[in-house]
Amino acid sequence: MAHKFTFYNTLTRKVEEFIPREEGKVSMYTCGPTVYHYAHIGNIRTYIMQDALIKSLKYAGFDVKRVMNITDVGHLSSDADTGEDKMLAGAKREHKTVMEIAKFYTDAFFNDFDAVGNMRPDVVEPATNCIPEFIHMVETLLEKGFAYVAGGNVYFDTSKLNDYYVFSSEVEKEQLQVGVRDDVEEDTNKKNKTDFVLWFTKSKFEDQALKWDSPWGVGYPGWHIECSCISMKHLGEFIDIHCGGVDNIFPHHTNEIAQSESYLGHEWCKYWFHSNHLNDKSGKMSKSKGAILTVSLLKEKGYDPLVYRFFCLQSHYRKPLEFSYEALDQSVQAYNKLVRRVSELKNDGAVDEAVKTEFEEKFTDAVSNDLNTSMAVTVLYDALKADTNDATKLALVESFDKVLSLDLVAHAKSLLEGTEVDPELEKYILDAIQRRTDAKKAKDFATADAIRAELLEKGVEIKDTREGVKWQLI
Ligand SMILES: [Zn+2]
Repeated sequence: MAHKFTFYNTLTRKVEEFIPREEGKVSMYTCGPTVYHYAHIGNIRTYIMQDALIKSLKYAGFDVKRVMNITDVGHLSSDADTGEDKMLAGAKREHKTVMEIAKFYTDAFFNDFDAVGNMRPDVVEPATNCIPEFIHMVETLLEKGFAYVAGGNVYFDTSKLNDYYVFSSEVEKEQLQVGVRDDVEEDTNKKNKTDFVLWFTKSKFEDQALKWDSPWGVGYPGWHIECSCISMKHLGEFIDIHCGGVDNIFPHHTNEIAQSESYLGHEWCKYWFHSNHLNDKSGKMSKSKGAILTVSLLKEKGYDPLVYRFFCLQSHYRKPLEFSYEALDQSVQAYNKLVRRVSELKNDGAVDEAVKTEFEEKFTDAVSNDLNTSMAVTVLYDALKADTNDATKLALVESFDKVLSLDLVAHAKSLLEGTEVDPELEKYILDAIQRRTDAKKAKDFATADAIRAELLEKGVEIKDTREGVKWQLI
């Protein structure tokens, strides 16, 4: 029997007990990346919190099957056809074909996704694999009277629904309606302002790169349809949990529900899990603000991606999180201390099963209480301080790491052996030491001291010895 599990359901706007359709089994769908550019660390925060959710559900005794899409087609910036084909823009920018761009950014995405300790979804499906499924859904929506053809495009008719704004309170509905009215770029084909495109054959952007034959002419799918179809293809007519960032709630998830439930004729997904933004000091992180802060970039700056995970886990998924290098440096120090503490544990005999169970229950209570990951980290600290032998503590660290995925035992081992430091981190350290040596030679002691301080902030201590400069992680 799985442990009682609660989290905030955006659909009912409250923390609820999660009860899947089939006892102990969870079908989960995650909106995947749009692969025309890098995913920034704010996007990766969303995937870290989803990973924590999946692993927590497993820890609590559920079986989870998870499906994710890859948006490798079109993706206009809005349904009003005011955006450009971002895949094509990416291809032009980088002198590559659209599919080369998709492959490059899919690989870059998973590189960062994996580096922060995430488990890959059971199914990852690119949208371009599912064109017949999209066409079938659009045909059915037309047959059922939920869609119409205008100006060469197929639109979903939102006036056919009793409650289109399913996620919103009455006040929010009014605000959204005002927002939709104020939308300057208007698609005159639409019967209602909230209608959205299911299939394009006519677009302002005639050089759309990927096109397919359809009953309505050569064209390409709208933005929202892929998630509904890919989810149904792999998980059937019902899903238990649909995940995304708060950005996705409107219009994306609102439109997914509109088309899915109109197609199916019944409720589609009962629980909607959304994680909040990562902000920097200037506001929300976004792709449009020039340089993109990625996990790979953090790595180049000498940060272990798992420290970024640790930073995210220490905050609640429903709260906005402010990113700064100062805050990340604090996580580096806390993480290194944790690794050092674990490295001091000896395998000193039999595990005390009673103590282990007691702490595992505390840990399960924390993660199953609206995914309280910071409390789960506190349980880890408590376990390390507990009045029990090291073997039990070590067993608990390994047990909690099934959810936390901080790789503490392996890091502790490499600390002891003094080897196996991440090669990029090592390169960064050696570069910094070289810069410091050069500065000292040039009698620029201020720079040399600044480099020593920079390394110390990253948890690297250097010592000048007769054999040269030695360094160690602290
Ligand atoms: Zn989606």
